[in-house]
Amino acid sequence: MRIEVDFDKCQSNAVCQAVAPAIFEVRDDGYLYVLDETPSEDLRALVDQAARACPTQAITIVD
Ligand code: SF4
Repeated sequence: MRIEVDFDKCQSNAVCQAVAPAIFEVRDDGYLYVLDETPSEDLRALVDQAARACPTQAITIVD
């Protein structure tokens, strides 16, 4: 599993961080950082939940 974020769509509102803080982090500089772009399979449900929660559909799960 690989996480892709379309930063043109991302509004840094930290909705994904609220769902999966181990993976997504919006820092003081106002940008979203993906802490682990290739998380293990056991995190798929959580990452999927974060992707679905994103109001701008900026998160894509590849594979
Ligand atoms: S939920 Fe979507 S728009 Fe918000 S910070 Fe995460 S990727 Fe960006």
